[in-house]
Amino acid sequence: MWDAEGRRYIDYIGSWGPMILGHGHPAVLEAVSQAVSQGLSFGAPTEREIELAEEIIALLPSVEMVRLVNSGTEASMSAIRLARGATGRSKIVKFEGCYHGHADALLVKAGSGLATFGQATSAGVPAPVVQDTLVLAYNSVEQLEQAFAQHGADIACVIMEPIAGNMNFVRASLPFMQRARQLCSEHGALLIIDEVMTGFRVALGGAQSLYAQQIPGFAPDLTVMGKVIGGGMPLAAFGGRRDVMEHLAPQGGVYQAGTLSGNPVATACGLATLRQIQQPGFHARLGERTQQLVQGLQTAAAEAGLALSVDSEGGLFGFFLLPQLPQNYQQVMQSDGTQFNRLFHGLLERGVYLAPALYEAGFVSAAHTEDDIAQTLEAARAVFRQMAQ
Ligand code: PLP
Repeated sequence: MWDAEGRRYIDYIGSWGPMILGHGHPAVLEAVSQAVSQGLSFGAPTEREIELAEEIIALLPSVEMVRLVNSGTEASMSAIRLARGATGRSKIVKFEGCYHGHADALLVKAGSGLATFGQATSAGVPAPVVQDTLVLAYNSVEQLEQAFAQHGADIACVIMEPIAGNMNFVRASLPFMQRARQLCSEHGALLIIDEVMTGFRVALGGAQSLYAQQIPGFAPDLTVMGKVIGGGMPLAAFGGRRDVMEHLAPQGGVYQAGTLSGNPVATACGLATLRQIQQPGFHARLGERTQQLVQGLQTAAAEAGLALSVDSEGGLFGFFLLPQLPQNYQQVMQSDGTQFNRLFHGLLERGVYLAPALYEAGFVSAAHTEDDIAQTLEAARAVFRQMAQ
């Protein structure tokens, strides 16, 4: 990536996730140009919209029906409305440190103690709008159990990032995911997995495919998707169980619509991207490259005498200036922000572009070469040495 002054960067943000093939992949650009020449938007279903929906359904076994929208925010907002409409309940459970876009009811941080109804994190969100949003600590089975014991009959859904990429990189533990699934089923609530960041990136079948390998029969009721399925254009989706999705208008009573949803240019971009990432070995190669990066970073930090914990899955990674991987938001925030800023700026000066905050994940694309990783590690060695002084 080059900035306005012509400086070159190795980009580990990739538009915050969509650019899994890198910037300007020829097959994607060609598909988009073709689509543009045929017209920008019709407000009627087009063939590609159906093809993309079928592609998503083929890749995610838990998704029987899917609705296309324009952003991850819209997708999670609509999934929440659907969950409330389908269950006839109003309370929702989310986890501290998970981000699901900027719908009012989801812009909530934990209240004074955890397992409380939260407070709005943004000006402009009136308290009544978040009064039904219960915020729990990520990876706390105890708080989940407590929440269901107290409010089980009123909980419409639990929404979670399966690997929380909005607090750097924190995996949902197996017991936590398993218990969330069980409690939702027992109490008639829906489990919504937000795969906007992880979907099609950590594995072709998303993070849910990794949990399904370890938890027999595991499947979410609804999945929220975005980023990679649009390949860099405004496109996102939510989908899941047919009996739940049928509550959406026009069949059901839950309203949802969008002038530009399923836009023919965006669907061309998304389809071209999904076809590229289905090439044999794509995610294995992406995962290896990402591993090279994070392990190299860990070694470089250790050589400088700094503690760095790292994790990655497919093309998503995280690292913490902490001796051990954190399990929740409170632990993530124990990272040394000043040291992180030195790392970020030191790398930026050396042409390596990482997210400028310690609570953001990193993204590797298929366009990153071994040479890019080697250059990144060389820069990191120099910066870690400075930080250790
Ligand atoms: N959900 C997750 C997990 C995200 O990471 C994001 C954005 O980063 C969103 C939802 C919101 O998506 P968008 O920015 O497309 O509205």
